[in-house]
Amino acid sequence: MADCVFCGIASGKIPSTIVYEDADVVAFRDVAPQTPVHILIVPREHVASFNEVDKLGDDIVAKMFRVASRLAKEQGLRERGYRLVSNCGVDACQSVPHLHIHLLGGRAMGADIA
Ligand code: AMP
Repeated sequence: MADCVFCGIASGKIPSTIVYEDADVVAFRDVAPQTPVHILIVPREHVASFNEVDKLGDDIVAKMFRVASRLAKEQGLRERGYRLVSNCGVDACQSVPHLHIHLLGGRAMGADIA
């Protein structure tokens, strides 16, 4: 989608630090990391948020979570743990309207998730 920053990253038009990519899914480092490891996992196909997850094939949805698990291992997060977050809509403060999962880890986080 034109003027979508994550579509721009997925297509290579906008620079980013990509840590994983295949035909369906791209993962890259968050430009403003909130934890020592902060990676965003996105589908190449533009869907705005989890509200539209039914537009994606089941294989792509599953792959996003498999990639998250694999990256957590590669980043050394498995022993201490990590958090997966997807903000959806205004109340969750979603700022980029392209579905993404945050992979957060590398330090202890608070128990509150909201
Ligand atoms: P959310 O607020 O859940 O929509 O998360 C959007 C995330 O995208 C934020 O953590 C931003 O720091 C991150 N972000 C925005 N633009 C870029 C970019 N060009 N490259 C990497 N991360 C970005």
